[in-house]
Amino acid sequence: MKTRKAGAAGKRRAADAAAGGAPAARSRVICDLDFDRAGKQAGLMRVPHSRNDSGWGVIQIPITVVKHGKGPTVLLTGGVHGDEYESQIAIAELARTIDPATVQGRLIIVPALHFPAAMNGSRLSPLDNKDLNRCFPGRAEGTTADVIAHYVSSVLLPLSDYNIDLHSGGRGMDFVPSTTSHVLDDRRRFEKTNALGLAFGAPYHVVIKEVDAGYTLMTCCEQRDVVAISSELGGGNRVNVDGMRATREGIRRTLAHLGVVDAPAGRTAASKTRLMTVPDYDCYAFAPCGGLFEPRHALGARVRKGELAGALHFIDDPHRTPVEIHYGASGEVWCTRAQGIVLPGDPVAVIVAPYQG
Ligand SMILES: [Zn+2]
Repeated sequence: MKTRKAGAAGKRRAADAAAGGAPAARSRVICDLDFDRAGKQAGLMRVPHSRNDSGWGVIQIPITVVKHGKGPTVLLTGGVHGDEYESQIAIAELARTIDPATVQGRLIIVPALHFPAAMNGSRLSPLDNKDLNRCFPGRAEGTTADVIAHYVSSVLLPLSDYNIDLHSGGRGMDFVPSTTSHVLDDRRRFEKTNALGLAFGAPYHVVIKEVDAGYTLMTCCEQRDVVAISSELGGGNRVNVDGMRATREGIRRTLAHLGVVDAPAGRTAASKTRLMTVPDYDCYAFAPCGGLFEPRHALGARVRKGELAGALHFIDDPHRTPVEIHYGASGEVWCTRAQGIVLPGDPVAVIVAPYQG
């Protein structure tokens, strides 16, 4: 378990050195919560945002800390992407309803971490056009997304043993509700991470080789010895009914697995979770050109390498032959494009296969 005094600064410097970064600057975020105080505190992370009409203006990001008894510290984050809604609802609900007396340990709860994007219902922030999950570990001297990431990496992660960072497919993709984590060389850590995903109890826990993972919150956690899982719990720029249920129940089950809350009543669904993997980039089917994508399969369908994934149609040129896209790997359809229109290089499907590890 970590406390504010448990070598956080030294750990931060070591992580920054390991990541090849400069020594950590002091966070510019103002937050007056006392992370060591017992009970429930609701407060704000105030991120400086100077505007023409408000030089001392701040962006106010709700944050709740709940501490009671002895146990690990779990950082719960939603809304890293503003168009992914299940996490924002479920994590806000947890902050609103949890009774501190039922907690053993500490919860740091941020329902909408990239608040400007969440208020805009968009993946990127309208303030700086940045994807927060490509900004970690962040920079104190950067734009608002950089400053938020820097606060997480320099203040919240040194306090945390675990991070549950919940995502969905957003506007772009639609997923079989799943938890995710990275393929890790450290076997013990890998198994500990997978156990969190299995406890969450979504249909899949997917260990993934991710496109552009270097600057994500999950990678930042791995560099700082914080055990982390993420998720893909729906998508299509709406609240997914199955994803919502999986999110609510999964948060409770994962916290129970860590001993932070009591196990929910009734049967757990953990045994239903299948451990899957995205072993390499062949699993990603990309659009070679722009067009209107017609998928061939529903989510979860079993498909084979070389099989037709779908076709790109050219509505502005009805006589042009549609371009076919084929799967580069065999397995099950984990996600598909949630919007009809695609641009060159957009993924239209990702395949998962059972993890054989
Ligand atoms: Zn996301």
